[in-house]
Amino acid sequence: MKGEGVKIIIPVRCFTCGKLVGDKWEDFNRRVKAGEDAKKVLDSLGLKRYCCRRMLLSHVGIADEILKFHEEKGRRKQIKPF
Ligand SMILES: [Zn+2]
Repeated sequence: MKGEGVKIIIPVRCFTCGKLVGDKWEDFNRRVKAGEDAKKVLDSLGLKRYCCRRMLLSHVGIADEILKFHEEKGRRKQIKPF
């Protein structure tokens, strides 16, 4: 885990059906970033229900938003440090 800038927290279980999804996040994230189709990755991870797929899919969007915020925060610090 050393060297990884942003630590992403994902709910361990699906809110709707209670299936374990937290352990699949890392694999999912890595494969999607490597260019794999998110739909295929979810299928191969065994997340067939939409409620569970949503857990991982919506998390990608949130992570990106947070990342943007951090980058913007960094830029502002450079301009006006205090
Ligand atoms: Zn579910």
